Amino acid sequence: RMNVKKISTGSQALDGLLAGGIETRTMTEFFGEFGSGKTQLCHQLSVNVQLPPEKGGLSGKAVYIDTEGTFRWERIENMAKALGLDIDNVMNNIYYIRAINTDHQIAIVDDLQELVSKDPSIKLIVVDSVTSHFRAEYPGRENLAVRQQKLNKHLHQLTRLAEVYDIAVIITNQVMARPDMFYGDPTVAVGGHTLYHVPGIRIQLKKSRGNRRIARVVDAPHLPEGEVVFALTEEGIRD
Ligand code: ATP
Ligand code: MG
Repeated sequence: RMNVKKISTGSQALDGLLAGGIETRTMTEFFGEFGSGKTQLCHQLSVNVQLPPEKGGLSGKAVYIDTEGTFRWERIENMAKALGLDIDNVMNNIYYIRAINTDHQIAIVDDLQELVSKDPSIKLIVVDSVTSHFRAEYPGRENLAVRQQKLNKHLHQLTRLAEVYDIAVIITNQVMARPDMFYGDPTVAVGGHTLYHVPGIRIQLKKSRGNRRIARVVDAPHLPEGEVVFALTEEGIRD
């Protein structure tokens, strides 16, 4: 765990839970129900990675792989403006890629190796969401084995990019809210073990009142247990 760097989320409480923020050399999964804040966190971290280290960033660039078409430049603008950053600069430092299906998504990550080795200022890779195309193309139990095999390979490739190039990788995964539904989710085996056993940090997000959201770290031996509350605001992720 040497030389790991951190990117602030914008919430001191959430940063506290993560012992400083999202880590480089690690894949971090945000999972939770619709509207729990996964995509907003992806946007915020794509902006915050660009901040100088003294402000919680890495003076870096982001690659944003959007599988659901939910990326919004307006959100980036709002978040950049709220931080007093140059909006054009911030937008130029985000490589936006829309992935249209699993083959495309996999090919994009295959090609990233070349991009990140050419541009060492890339410090964040986002895949929002990592599972949606896989679920759509390989539905049901009969496709579970092949889906998991493909997804595992994809996740290992992302993990490797994180480790080799000192990059923070963020993936998102929509799961339903109720615990019984959660464990019934096809990407989660009975007993709560994910079917993909890829190293990394898993953060569960839950809706609370209004714009409040709850974050909890799942199974991270080096992080304290517990949950924190943060807020989704017009300016971005805040306490
Ligand atoms: P899904 O699983 O459907 O992709 P998600 O976890 O990605 O959901 P987000 O899109 O991150 O959820 O969160 C949506 C929420 O973010 C909205 O319900 C709203 O509370 C908040 N939000 C989005 N845009 C704004 C904005 N401009 N100002 C304030 N809050 C916003
Ligand atoms: Mg989303």
